[in-house]
Amino acid sequence: MNIHNPYDGGGLWLKGCIHAHTTKSDGRLTPAELMNRYSQHDYDFLAITDHDKMTTAKHPSLLMVPSVEITLPEQRHLLSIGSAVQPNMEEETQDCLARIEQSGGLAVAAHPNQDLPHPGFRWPVEALTSLRGLHGLEIYNHLASLFFPRGLAVDVWDKLLSSGVYPCWGFAVDDTHGMSDSDSGPIRDDIFGGWIVVGCPERTLAALLTSIRRGSFYASTGVTILEVNLSATTLTVSSADAEYVRFIGHAGRVLAEKTGMQGSYTIQGSEHYVRVECYREDGTTAWTQPLLVSQGA
Ligand SMILES: [Zn+2]
Ligand SMILES: [Zn+2]
Repeated sequence: MNIHNPYDGGGLWLKGCIHAHTTKSDGRLTPAELMNRYSQHDYDFLAITDHDKMTTAKHPSLLMVPSVEITLPEQRHLLSIGSAVQPNMEEETQDCLARIEQSGGLAVAAHPNQDLPHPGFRWPVEALTSLRGLHGLEIYNHLASLFFPRGLAVDVWDKLLSSGVYPCWGFAVDDTHGMSDSDSGPIRDDIFGGWIVVGCPERTLAALLTSIRRGSFYASTGVTILEVNLSATTLTVSSADAEYVRFIGHAGRVLAEKTGMQGSYTIQGSEHYVRVECYREDGTTAWTQPLLVSQGA
């Protein structure tokens, strides 16, 4: 049995947001205001992803990741993270992905389940499986969760993984526009609701991007993972604050579920992939990346 474990070069855990808007597109905060808010909230890195406008910014305490949210011809949105790719709205999706790859960037499908306010925002599973050079998808988009209840796309993730798309990393993001929802009870801001935490050997932009590319990170809406450890065929995930730990395999099947902050599962070999969700009864969750499991020597 072979197990591909993306968590083998850790060191630091760096927290960041890879999807946020400013007044350079349809956000309400200026780039300086946005960077200061994330910095004051103890984030380590930030990607400003204004619509079809590349941003390369600097900040004294945040690692700033050059990024853009590209509008594709079908109206779908694609994040280009980590390289200065200029968007070209006439370009076909596959050509755009190739250009991001050539420039050393990472391509992430944005809000794949969101079909409001525009049905074209949604990414059909067939479209995602047919593309080459996609590094992952947003499994949680905070803005879409607040305003359109279609922010979660873990179902799409399991479909891609089950049809053999790998690597295929899951990201949680804010997609902040500086807006709030006060329709149902307390005001909820579209910021600090979804993030990733990257296991990274050093605090540099190059190391950060290499670690994200390898899948050495987890996505979260509130739960903190302390360690992902593979010892022979036993996978152990420890958290600081989860109430349950659930191991998921092919087609989203639950392989095992444990109560408490930590759980272990011994991989059998037929799972195709194993990923872990650490969650709390209030709904907050942390998702590890999938470990690829294959039979053979
Ligand atoms: Zn978008
Ligand atoms: Zn956006």
